[in-house]
Amino acid sequence: MRKILVSFLGILFFFCTSFAQAPKKNSSSEIYHAIQKLNFLGSALYIAAHPDDENTRLISYLSNEVKARTAYLSLTRGDGGQNLIGPELRELLGVLRTQELLAARRIDGGEQFFTRAVDFGYSKHPEETLKIWNKDTVLGDVVRMIRSFKPDVIINRFDHRTPGSTHGHHTSSAILSVAAFDLAGDPTSYPEQLGELNVWHPKRLFFNTSWWFYGSEEKFAAADKSNMLSFDIGIYYPMLGLSNNEIASLASSQHRCQGFGRLMSRGSENEYIELLKGDLPQDKKDVFDGIDTTWSRVEGGEAVGILLYGIEKNFNFKDPSTHVKELVQAHQMIQDITDTHWKTIKTKELEAIIASITGLYLEASSENPMANPGSSVTIDIEVLNRSNAKIKLKSMAIGDLISKDKDIVLANNVKHDLKFDLRVPDNISYTNPYWLNKKGTLGMYTVENPKLIGNPETPPAFMAHFNLDFDGYPITITKPVIHRYSKPDKGELYQPFEIMPEATARFEDKVIIFADGTPKNIPVTIKAHRDSIKGEVVFCYAQGWNVEQKSKPFSIAKKGDEQIVFFELTPPSHEDENYISPIIKINGKEIAKELVTIAYDHIPTQSVLLPSEAKVVRLDIQKAGEHIGYIVGAGDEVPTSLEQIGYQVHLIDPNSINAETLNNYGAIVVGIRAYNVVPELRFKQKYLLDYVANGGNLVIQYNTAGRWDAQYKDIAPYPLTLSRDRVTDENSRVDIIAKNHELVNYPNKITEADFKGWVQERGLYFPNEWDAHFTPILSMNDEGETAKTGGLLIAPYGKGNYIYTGLSFFRELPAGVPGAYKLFANMLSVGKENLKKKTPIKG
Ligand SMILES: [Zn+2]
Repeated sequence: MRKILVSFLGILFFFCTSFAQAPKKNSSSEIYHAIQKLNFLGSALYIAAHPDDENTRLISYLSNEVKARTAYLSLTRGDGGQNLIGPELRELLGVLRTQELLAARRIDGGEQFFTRAVDFGYSKHPEETLKIWNKDTVLGDVVRMIRSFKPDVIINRFDHRTPGSTHGHHTSSAILSVAAFDLAGDPTSYPEQLGELNVWHPKRLFFNTSWWFYGSEEKFAAADKSNMLSFDIGIYYPMLGLSNNEIASLASSQHRCQGFGRLMSRGSENEYIELLKGDLPQDKKDVFDGIDTTWSRVEGGEAVGILLYGIEKNFNFKDPSTHVKELVQAHQMIQDITDTHWKTIKTKELEAIIASITGLYLEASSENPMANPGSSVTIDIEVLNRSNAKIKLKSMAIGDLISKDKDIVLANNVKHDLKFDLRVPDNISYTNPYWLNKKGTLGMYTVENPKLIGNPETPPAFMAHFNLDFDGYPITITKPVIHRYSKPDKGELYQPFEIMPEATARFEDKVIIFADGTPKNIPVTIKAHRDSIKGEVVFCYAQGWNVEQKSKPFSIAKKGDEQIVFFELTPPSHEDENYISPIIKINGKEIAKELVTIAYDHIPTQSVLLPSEAKVVRLDIQKAGEHIGYIVGAGDEVPTSLEQIGYQVHLIDPNSINAETLNNYGAIVVGIRAYNVVPELRFKQKYLLDYVANGGNLVIQYNTAGRWDAQYKDIAPYPLTLSRDRVTDENSRVDIIAKNHELVNYPNKITEADFKGWVQERGLYFPNEWDAHFTPILSMNDEGETAKTGGLLIAPYGKGNYIYTGLSFFRELPAGVPGAYKLFANMLSVGKENLKKKTPIKG
């Protein structure tokens, strides 16, 4: 099965320009498909907010059935989501999800673009979203995208008319798209873009509606559809051996970090789009109806069309290389077309087709996966013609260097291996996601070079240009320089060739908490990116903090090896939050970056250089108890955070839960969404509640409502109903409504000030109904909403305390928020003031 899947994937790899995937090797039917696309001159742009919002059924349909040039503009890179497959969060999650989108597009045949907007987390309303994003800048990016991609039709995933009904980012994406549809054609809007770009008037704007937006299939069936187009997106493509919805399932299954892996769907299925702007097509099944999508669309295109439609009609599946002469002729004719937009696109497509039909294999692979500025690397060049076409390699160029060898005649299936010595310039930039090079804001990435805005990734460090001669006609085919290698357990692999600093340094912990004035030994891990480096690492810290030695030497013999250097850091005597960073000094050069590698099988390996730093927090925190039991849910870093303030945290295997195991601990904490994802808990709830009755503290963090299982209605010892209430504004006012309760007084006095500096949100899935045994401690709400008092609830049960909290401790503790630590310490300590009088519980 796996083998079949892999060959399916290969089918649609045709035109995408991923930089480090295995080169595409195209069969006749794939080449034919590419020629059909070459003969369609129309474009569609799909717009939504996040990676995984896009409707891959529709994107695949437009790309593979209609054969339009199709792209997805995702306003954000999905930094704010969760990650089901690894530790990457925030900007690193954005890098991973960018690659998942590119992997999806390689399958459905679309292209991928972004704006500079950051996915800053859940937002209830577009008004809030557009306050945190720079609305004008994001709108400008959408306008820029329309002006450069020049879509005939734009399709919004979301409805711009229903703010508040979905994520604020979603509605915002539709609002901005509707505005940009008109502004793109207006020369007075964003005039600074008009040097490089021209104004553009898209013809139609649609909303990709479905029954979901109507509440039920019945309501949608009854709805007026006179303004809608619909088409069967379950259509089967015999040329590809797949149906459209199968391709769509494969594509959306690339969103693995969001848990989108799914079965393929098959069979007839209707998709609906509702016209928002432009004229309603006569043919209600054709988005491009009435728009010229033939070669006649461009001046001078008619003659090209006659030639290329002829090839499409009489395509030679047994030996496509027989078309080389006509295709080269078409290439020559296209160069005379004055419409530079279509000329550029169709030239690129045609060159890929010419290379495919002649079985041309052109590769430039660095012997090393990375190089430092100022170094030299050997590039292995492979050149091979697998047809009887008369092709010569005239010369080669990488960067500024041109090979001066004489012409090489490329005879059928005779391979040429060449070497190219590349000197990497001293002043070359490191390869890094371009949107992470400069510090951004909460809502926006900073991009210095406007030409990069919209691009999914940073262009490769080096491109190899193969200057070829096709029977007297010159064509240059360009490939990125990559690194090809093999692993015994995986076979041949490709990865990007990258430019890296000579060494990078990092702190293992990004947040270091000092619960008192005791110094801590802070490890700095230095990684070498070339052989035999020597230097010193300087420890930078803020006033009030102190290290015993500010700078220490290091020396690493082998590239890839690491050395750990320790610095003893003493916190100030008072509470403080600050940052520390290591700076590496080698031969007068300073490097303040750390390297994060993101490696998964479904994406090319990503190297990300981030500013190397850690947050240090000096707390004045009191706590009772020492041993905490932790039942892991969907995964969070709370155990590590509790260890930082001196707790001994023991992870409890849910299967091992019984009366004896629990009694070893002063408190038991249940990780986020544990009742949603750990089925064993339904059989263990009795022991957990008995533990409380015997004097223990049980702290349950948020679980999601909705997917709630009736069997968990006894999640608490008294009735408790979870809701979808959430408070997303991390700066929203918090009132302590149970001021005298021990939970906000012992052992740490909690005040409103402890809710300053929280990140991303206050909390989610708060209970909205509870039994009288519960005491609500806090009240908070987002702007314009009623007070939510279910964020922190406590109920005495037997001799112990049951606590349910939807507060986002899983975000606040790893971010080093002092108030969150104090409140958590109180949840673990509450009721232990008179510990000695109670049933003995260790801890
Ligand atoms: Zn979304």
